[in-house]
Amino acid sequence: MLRSYNKLQKNKNRVFVKTNSPEHLCDMLGIRPTRSRLILLYEIMSRKTPFNSEDIVVATSGGSAGRATVFRNILLFKEIGILREVDIRQDSIFYEYNVDNHHHHIVCTECGHIEDFDVCDADLLIKDAIKQSKYFQLITDHSFEMFGICKVCQNRIGV
Ligand SMILES: [Zn+2]
Ligand SMILES: [Zn+2]
Ligand SMILES: [Zn+2]
Repeated sequence: MLRSYNKLQKNKNRVFVKTNSPEHLCDMLGIRPTRSRLILLYEIMSRKTPFNSEDIVVATSGGSAGRATVFRNILLFKEIGILREVDIRQDSIFYEYNVDNHHHHIVCTECGHIEDFDVCDADLLIKDAIKQSKYFQLITDHSFEMFGICKVCQNRIGV
């Protein structure tokens, strides 16, 4: 158990091979493909935008996984790197499937609608940050979320 956990820890921060199969993913990570995990992974992999644990509970209710199981498995998935956290300034923690598709988000501050934004121009910024930094010469990751008002809300509230 400990050995496989250490192996999983090494996977953390690693970009996963893209797969559409929850079974294949469990196999690659060396975790047991229980029925509730497969249901959860299927749901997570089909999500196009970040979600919180509650969304997944609602979406999979009627499945075999109870609320506590969903929350526990989501923490496990985060721990082993299947999920990454996305900070969209909500009360709850949002996650998304951690595959090799580096991107950023635009979040509507009125209705919470989230859109992926695929362009990343961070190289220059990172170079400047390193140049200015007293304590760092190695940047390994970054996140960047934009906040605005979506077109629907803009029309509704008339700004
Ligand atoms: Zn909106
Ligand atoms: Zn995203
Ligand atoms: Zn980026």
